[in-house]
Amino acid sequence: MAQQPFIVGNWKMNGTRPLLAEARAIDRGAGRRSGVRVALAPPFTLVMAMAEALGEVAVGGQDCHAAPSGAHTGDVSAPMLVDAGAQFVILGHSERRADHGETDEQVRAKADAAIEAGLSIIVCVGETEAQRDAGDAEGVVAAQLEGSLPAALPEGASELTVAYEPVWAIGTGRVPAVADVSAMHARIRQELVTRYGEAGADVAILYGGSVNAANAAELLAVPEVGGALVGGASLTADSFLAIVLAAGADQD
Ligand code: PEP
Repeated sequence: MAQQPFIVGNWKMNGTRPLLAEARAIDRGAGRRSGVRVALAPPFTLVMAMAEALGEVAVGGQDCHAAPSGAHTGDVSAPMLVDAGAQFVILGHSERRADHGETDEQVRAKADAAIEAGLSIIVCVGETEAQRDAGDAEGVVAAQLEGSLPAALPEGASELTVAYEPVWAIGTGRVPAVADVSAMHARIRQELVTRYGEAGADVAILYGGSVNAANAAELLAVPEVGGALVGGASLTADSFLAIVLAAGADQD
């Protein structure tokens, strides 16, 4: 099924309240463009304010704990994200896997908790440069999918988005060859269909890693690339909306 491109901004650990002005400008811009789904994942501290301020753009978290509440100092649960106005959560980002030692098993537990709380999830996978050089990229990603994804999608494909983000492309200005993106997205689709049957054919698969206004159109034209997860270029309305336009948005 052909779906609207999905462009998601990941603000990472960036932004205090003054940056909400950029989010509002992104929201206004998204409202003037049709044909593309747009979302932003700010730090936890801005989720509620952003969710209250925006109308067109979905707001989500960048992580959640697998438990709904309890003695987990510094963590935030999926029901808390829902309470703050979040509609989705990014899980298993390579920076969380690297900085916090998150395992596939933990990512899956978070995924189950998020879906249970009513959030849709964006599960990130991707190989390191050494793994790609060793010829293991597809095997590594397939194993991450096997370990990180929820067993079932009770409400269907819209609950899940997969983001393929080669670790070596994040924040580096380097992007894989189009042929490599194409091969990896085809492999991810195959894994999703094997796992979820018909629903797996409709799960959106995003590319992430140094997407910007100059390279977005080429990357988004690759078969099975259903959108982009954007870090650095999502922090200003100018750079982010240029990617939204490149995704094929009609200017109303
Ligand atoms: C990311 O961290 O998800 C990301 C894709 O970052 P960047 O666009 O800055 O490479």
